[in-house]
Amino acid sequence: MTNANQQAVARYKNNFLKEVEERVEEGDMVKMCMQCGVCAGSCPLGSAWEHSPQKIFMMIRAGKRDEVLQSDSMWMCTSCYNCIVRCPRQLPITHIMHGLANYAHRLGIAPKGQPTREFAKTFWNNLIKRGRTNELTLTLAHYFANGIGPGIKTALNMQKIGLGMVMAGRLNPMEIFGGHSVKDLKGFHAVLAKAKEIEDRKKGFAA
Ligand code: SF4
Ligand code: SF4
Repeated sequence: MTNANQQAVARYKNNFLKEVEERVEEGDMVKMCMQCGVCAGSCPLGSAWEHSPQKIFMMIRAGKRDEVLQSDSMWMCTSCYNCIVRCPRQLPITHIMHGLANYAHRLGIAPKGQPTREFAKTFWNNLIKRGRTNELTLTLAHYFANGIGPGIKTALNMQKIGLGMVMAGRLNPMEIFGGHSVKDLKGFHAVLAKAKEIEDRKKGFAA
C-alpha cells in the first residue's frame, strides 16, 4: 500500500464500518443489515465458506477489519444473486461482496494464491488487452497458471471438450495470434482509465 493510501486508511482508526461505507462499493448499505440470516441460508455455497455474507456484515460492524479483508469468502461469490432477491432489507449483497474483495485487492491484503481471485485477475488482464475476452488465450493462461507440466496435463484432459468447441465454432484456434478486438481500442482504454480515475477520486485512493 502506498503512503498516501496508508494515510487515507489511518484516518478511520478503529471505525471499520465507516471505512467500508466510504470506500467500498455499496458499503453504505451494510448498516441496514438486521442479521436475519436469510442471505446465509440462501447462498448455495456460503455454508462452505469461512464467513457467510451475514457474518461478514456483522464482523464489519464489530470492527474486525483484518479478518474480513483477508478472508477468501468474498472471492467465492458466484454472483448468483440469490441473496439479493431474498434480503428483506434489499441490501445489494453481491455487490458489497465484490466491493470488499476489490477493496482488499487494491490495499494489497487480499489472500494470495486464492484460485477464484487468480482467475479473476487472469480474466481481467485478458479482457482489457483488446476489449473482448479471447477464449483461447484465456483458457491457456488458466491451464498453465501453475506451470508447464500441470498445464499440459489439463490441456490433454480437456482436449475432447476443446475439440468439440472448435467444431461447434465456439473456439477459434486462430485467436492464438491475438484475436478480435473492439473497433476503438484506444477509446476503450481511455474509458477504463477515466473510470479508474473517477473511482479513485470517489473512494479516496491515491494513484
Ligand atoms: S438477508 Fe439481508 S438483512 Fe438478512 S442477514 Fe442477509 S444482508 Fe442482513
Ligand atoms: S450472490 Fe454470492 S453471496 Fe449471494 S447467494 Fe450468490 S454466491 Fe452467495
